[in-house]
Amino acid sequence: MKNNLKFNQSLLDCHIHYPDMHMKDSLIKACDALGIQRLNIVCTPHQQRLSLVPDALHLKDHFPDRVFVFGGLDISAYFREPQRAGEILAENVTFLSQMGCDGIKMIEGKPEMRKMLPIPDFDSDILAPYWQKMDELQMPLLMHLNDPEEFWNAELVPHWAIERGWFYGDGTFVNNEDQYQQMLNVLQRHPSLKVIFAHFFFLSKQLPRLAAFLDEFPNMHIDLVPGIEMYQNFSADAQAARDFFIKYQDRILFGTDIGAKALLATPEKGIELQESSERVNLIRHFLETEGAFDLTPQSGFLFGKPNESFTGIALPENVLEKIYFQNFEKFVTKKPKPINKELVIAFCMQLEQMIKIQGSSQPGIPGDPYVAQKIRNYFQTV
Ligand SMILES: [Zn+2]
Repeated sequence: MKNNLKFNQSLLDCHIHYPDMHMKDSLIKACDALGIQRLNIVCTPHQQRLSLVPDALHLKDHFPDRVFVFGGLDISAYFREPQRAGEILAENVTFLSQMGCDGIKMIEGKPEMRKMLPIPDFDSDILAPYWQKMDELQMPLLMHLNDPEEFWNAELVPHWAIERGWFYGDGTFVNNEDQYQQMLNVLQRHPSLKVIFAHFFFLSKQLPRLAAFLDEFPNMHIDLVPGIEMYQNFSADAQAARDFFIKYQDRILFGTDIGAKALLATPEKGIELQESSERVNLIRHFLETEGAFDLTPQSGFLFGKPNESFTGIALPENVLEKIYFQNFEKFVTKKPKPINKELVIAFCMQLEQMIKIQGSSQPGIPGDPYVAQKIRNYFQTV
């Protein structure tokens, strides 16, 4: 592959996963090597650990000018008090914000999560207090809603997706169009809600439709974290893709999903530089170079096929600056919010209690619930 990347400023990655505090060094090493100076950790729920927010704040405390955190919500709200879930989540947002989170991450719109958790319709009365609070606080949200549309189609769903349990066409999963409608209803009620939809809102195959949504909701943003299908779809009509990126240059944020493999598949390997660099290479070659390029990835997590061809759209420097860092600075914040250590300590203690009650304390395994205690000790001594 030709290496003619032209952008030489540092990047701000809006979408990185951080499965465990022990991956601090491997994550920072990968980011340093790949020119990612600032990074936003997006926290997803965790079955044993309950919350990965303490880990992300621990990282932020080590790199206070470098790390942003989008906290994950307390999903136990959906079980504990299903009728009051929206009120509980509204309080949760206030707490996460006070603790030092710069925004909220929701993975609740991924169909397997929606199936696993008793999540009410996003536009239901139950969740209304939550959206009201998000809007009121102007708290930025990065939301994963749906998945590639072919995952609902038995004829088109790729093999690797079936293997991961991501075929949604058997009638037991939420329908993607229903979820779009639910979120559009929320946005109609809260047009000023600050939301970034991950993975191009899974509309990379339907750019005119996505354009209409962006026109209707001026606060709606999207990130360009792969899904490999996005880059296949863009490459299929690179001119249309380029026109879209130029027109919506203020609404697109750079992100990679570095850490997703460690979170979902191979926690024992930590954050792998090779796998991380394949993500950055794909995105950067697409944005910065002109014409066809090939990628032959080694890690095989992100890519469906061993070798793929894409087409670059060679965006101008000023557009790259917006996508690579300015849009995040403008939409979220330039400087990460400071941490309230007292609140982090209280939160860790609460997690330790809940994990004890849940009875899943197994020290020494990946997802070690004693991590909350370690992080509490850290914050009690710094
Ligand atoms: Zn992700």
